[in-house]
Amino acid sequence: MPALPPHITFLQRGVLNSNSVVVHAPDAFLVFDTGYCTGARALERAIAEQAGRPLAELALIVNTHAHPDHTGGNAHLQERSGCEIVTSDIDRMLIESGDPVTLMRDWADLQCPSFGVTRAVRPGETLAFGVAEFIVVEGAGHAAGEVSYYCARDKLLICGDLLWQSGFSNVVPLVEGIGGLARHERSLSGLRELDVEIAIPGHGPLVVGRDAVRQRIDESIETIRFYRAHRDRWASTVLKSFIVMHVLAGEQVTRSAFVARCERSPWFQEQAARFFPRAERLLDALIDELLGRRILRAENDRLTCSLSA
Ligand SMILES: [Zn+2]
Repeated sequence: MPALPPHITFLQRGVLNSNSVVVHAPDAFLVFDTGYCTGARALERAIAEQAGRPLAELALIVNTHAHPDHTGGNAHLQERSGCEIVTSDIDRMLIESGDPVTLMRDWADLQCPSFGVTRAVRPGETLAFGVAEFIVVEGAGHAAGEVSYYCARDKLLICGDLLWQSGFSNVVPLVEGIGGLARHERSLSGLRELDVEIAIPGHGPLVVGRDAVRQRIDESIETIRFYRAHRDRWASTVLKSFIVMHVLAGEQVTRSAFVARCERSPWFQEQAARFFPRAERLLDALIDELLGRRILRAENDRLTCSLSA
């Protein structure tokens, strides 16, 4: 089985906190993605304990995309280290615009302390760090500005939320549209041209082995085709993941307040009108489904989530 090279440390985290990847050079290190803001100190500890690096040596953060579960730790790490931050050119525009919808901050009420992007890259460009040289690869779909990073020497792909070891990341209908699903499919097809032995996803475990990577690309494309044909399933899956993210990010989430807040919000009304014109008590039905699958738990009115943040 292929294994990660010694200059890479994989920090697997959870649903709310994206995974991080440390790339080592002798006197400095780079981190891909920084999780959610409430997990920033836990990331700092993981970097010290699992990667053996003090934050003072952090030279560079590179983000696969701008969502707050991948960029939430940027501000804390940049403040503590003075590091550079690299995003795609599209993400730099989105981050600088502060648009809460495109950056998915409004939807699940996720927060993201502001940080400064110091360099923007585009697909086809190269990012060199230590012995590693990464080619920036088109990754748009899940997020308009998403990119992957491919290291040909190590046959390694850092693929954010483009490709996971199981399941499929969201393409939010009202943000990315049907075009988002089409872009996601095109980005996945593009990965077939790369020789990848290990793919490091934004959430969940590694995808190890060339065949496993190809199989996950094919399965993800099948999921996209299913969603194109069954738009209500697409939209309800996205809503369920927002509910989970909201419960994981919140301190004291009560069902009644959450349902009331969503039902008042313009994005929810628009999504419900477009995809579920005849549904009544849509949110309650989705919450009940998550309770039935034991992904959520309820104590009186208070919701908690059984998945790891
Ligand atoms: Zn993510």
